[in-house]
Amino acid sequence: MAETTVRELADVVGIPVNRLLAHLGESGLHHTEADHRINDQEKAQLFTHLRRLHGKGGGEPAAPRKISLRRKSVSELRIASSQGRRKTVVVETRGRRTYAPGAGPRPDTGVAAAGEEGSAKARMDAAKRALQEEAKRRQQELDETFRAEAEAREKAEALRKLGDPEKKKRTPVEEQPVVPQPASGPAEAAPPVAEAAAVATPAAPVPPPAPPAKPASSAKPAPAPSSRRPDAKRGDRGDGRERGGRRERGRRGREELHVASDKAGRRRKKQKSRPVVRTQPARHGFEMPTAPVVREVAIPETIAVGELAQKMSIKATELIKALMGLGMMVTINQVIDQDAAVIVVEELGHVAKPVKESSIEEEILQASGEDDHPAAPRSPVVTVMGHVDHGKTSLLDYIRTTKVAAGEAGGITQHIGAYHVETPRGAITFLDTPGHAAFTAMRARGARATDIVVLVVAADDGVMPQTVEAITHAKAADVPIVVAVNKIDREDADPARIRQDLSNHEIVPEDWGGENMFVDLSALTGQGVDDLLEAVGLQAEVLELSAPAEGPARGVVVESRIERGRGPVATVLVQAGRLAKGDMLLAGQEFGRVRGLFDESGAETPAAGPSMPVEVLGLSGPPDAGDEAVVVADERKAREIASFRQGRQREARLARQRAAKLENVFEQMQEGEIHTLNVIVKADVQGSVEALRDALTQLSTEEVKVNVVAAATGGISETDANLAVASNAIVVGFNVRADAAARRIIEADQVDLRYFSVIYEVIDTVKQAMSGMLAPEFKEEIIGIAEVREVFRSRRLGNIAGCRVSEGAVRRSSPIRVLRDSVVIYEGELESLRRFQDDVNEVRAGTECGIGVRNYNDVKAGDQIEVYQRIQIERAV
Ligand code: GDP
Ligand code: MG
Repeated sequence: MAETTVRELADVVGIPVNRLLAHLGESGLHHTEADHRINDQEKAQLFTHLRRLHGKGGGEPAAPRKISLRRKSVSELRIASSQGRRKTVVVETRGRRTYAPGAGPRPDTGVAAAGEEGSAKARMDAAKRALQEEAKRRQQELDETFRAEAEAREKAEALRKLGDPEKKKRTPVEEQPVVPQPASGPAEAAPPVAEAAAVATPAAPVPPPAPPAKPASSAKPAPAPSSRRPDAKRGDRGDGRERGGRRERGRRGREELHVASDKAGRRRKKQKSRPVVRTQPARHGFEMPTAPVVREVAIPETIAVGELAQKMSIKATELIKALMGLGMMVTINQVIDQDAAVIVVEELGHVAKPVKESSIEEEILQASGEDDHPAAPRSPVVTVMGHVDHGKTSLLDYIRTTKVAAGEAGGITQHIGAYHVETPRGAITFLDTPGHAAFTAMRARGARATDIVVLVVAADDGVMPQTVEAITHAKAADVPIVVAVNKIDREDADPARIRQDLSNHEIVPEDWGGENMFVDLSALTGQGVDDLLEAVGLQAEVLELSAPAEGPARGVVVESRIERGRGPVATVLVQAGRLAKGDMLLAGQEFGRVRGLFDESGAETPAAGPSMPVEVLGLSGPPDAGDEAVVVADERKAREIASFRQGRQREARLARQRAAKLENVFEQMQEGEIHTLNVIVKADVQGSVEALRDALTQLSTEEVKVNVVAAATGGISETDANLAVASNAIVVGFNVRADAAARRIIEADQVDLRYFSVIYEVIDTVKQAMSGMLAPEFKEEIIGIAEVREVFRSRRLGNIAGCRVSEGAVRRSSPIRVLRDSVVIYEGELESLRRFQDDVNEVRAGTECGIGVRNYNDVKAGDQIEVYQRIQIERAV
């Protein structure tokens, strides 16, 4: 049998522990401490005592006057359904038998009364009759009870008026006639409650036995039955007990599920006003089991229907039905937005708690307890940049082969995009993801992985476009640059000229009073490489890099891929804390338990600390380079945030869309959102670059500064597009075009890219944007691109370009441009458009055609012919 402690019992009953102890003493039990255990027998003894004390039990002390037994029986009914199939119905019968001295046991209730034989219908009828009889009988009993109660109350009232203080407490109860217990009277369900109420309020009329007060009300004078109903805060939580005791406080004060007696599944409004007379004894028959538990449901910005149903612990079909009721036709996997979710959750009676993504993330990050761990010095993370063929790969290779502890694990077999070397000044981690695109792509996602940029410049070549680009990117990211003047082994090396050239780009050597360290070296011979490592170490010391070495890890994804047999593999650069096997890692939109950790040499490692790159196995998918990776407490949270992030990425994209649009400039200026308009200029010739840079910079006003982030010649590349995303810039293409890779990013990230061919149009457009007068815009829409395969000479038509339409369609009536290496070399009109021998008006993508360009005969194989139209854009309001 279940035992409780005195304290727990007191808690359930709702009286102070010492009072209960006193009662225990009075009833002849030996409990003196709150922690003493009390078994059911002792409880019975206590209750008998209490009952006698208050007159309910009367009679002999040890022999209870009545014994109530509750029982439940389950039987099955077999009925033939209309289709002739047999249906089995489970009938659960709950009954109570009360034995009172002198009275015979009451007939058990329920369908058992029905004959064993006979047709199903007959049995059902019998069951129904039995139920009706039972209900009638109980109603009579109840009426009797209340009559008796009323009498007792009247007497008590009369006595109180007589003013006999002694009798206040005892007399009414002593004189109270023996009240027949309602068959399912709640007194049995929780007798101590009623008792406690009485004990606590000696001056109050003794409450009738029927509806016990909630424990909390025990301190108040027990009011008349009709007003004694506890304040049912929500649903029938408080008064459930009255419905035939089906909702009870468990022995240990737990709320137990019950079987609702009416309107199954609905949560009822406050029922204060419902008269107690309606209190009903246990009903029998078919009742819908419900769990009217009000849940607080956290709702992210978007949530799948199935997931929401799960959160409310209801069937998805039920939720879908509810949504349909609200006019939303959804499927289980469909994602609904926060507003809809809140409405439907409230509709279903739960409490909706909309959650901002950021707050969840904050919560997680706080929970990660990173702050609890002291920051310790960490080694620098270095990215090598520079113009193609200036020796980046050679330098990284030289450092890796000579400096990385090659003996371990048989040298480096695995190439993981990052490695670290030990130097006398400490370890240095090299991010071996060459190419500026990777660097900028990371920065575009807000990840700052690099502490120092090593700019490789070949001493025999000098400052080249990508050198300038690297400088631009490093400066934009505010990362210090250490210059490696490479190839000094070559005869034509001229390190002094490199310094001169670079100082024109605000990279000034320290010995010239600047702040950039220059190291002359040869990646071929290895000369000066140690000096470079030394310089990097020095630069790192200046930066005073630090991060906690313990605690949950945080880092950034350097690269990722899916490997056969290993699944998603991500190279993660740990930035803080300690990443260990078994951790639950959340990386961007992916998550998973770290199944394996491998260091740069491919050897399995148990854990990695700050500035250490590791390969991580076990994620749900390959995260993006530049994604943040954090260790979180549990999988559920990881999953939640991962899905949050998907939504946030969408949002961020929308935000960018707004931020980097020329037509929004004025609006945002007004709102004080932007103070700098970033522009990237790409043009066909250097003269235009200079002219545009100057003209645009001069457009700066007091409110907003026009900042040319980058300006160079050549087509718009992937790098330019990434830089535009990272620095939230608009891109001006002056007689140049974006290549396919750039176009992908521009489309995905909604970069505002504009093509121009007249300088003053550029100036006008930007000026108008800044003054909020951007006129209804004529935008050029490229409707088709044809690649020139071969050029034929025709006596009649001049040069004919044999083309294949690669995108869109080519139309004869539209203006065209001829592009060579993404640069516009000619603008004009089509003279002829033919397919085989026929003149046609339009040729679609994938087909070949002959194009004659009016007044232009210099088309070459490999050129592109761009067909465009000017369309007027409605200004977005
Ligand atoms: P990256 O494009 O910047 O990665 O340049 P690479 O590392 O591929 O080098 C391009 C070429 O320059 C290769 O043929 C290398 O052998 C050569 N190279 C690189 N470093 C040096 C050097 O210090 N001295 C000489 N003489 N050649 C070098
Ligand atoms: Mg290379």
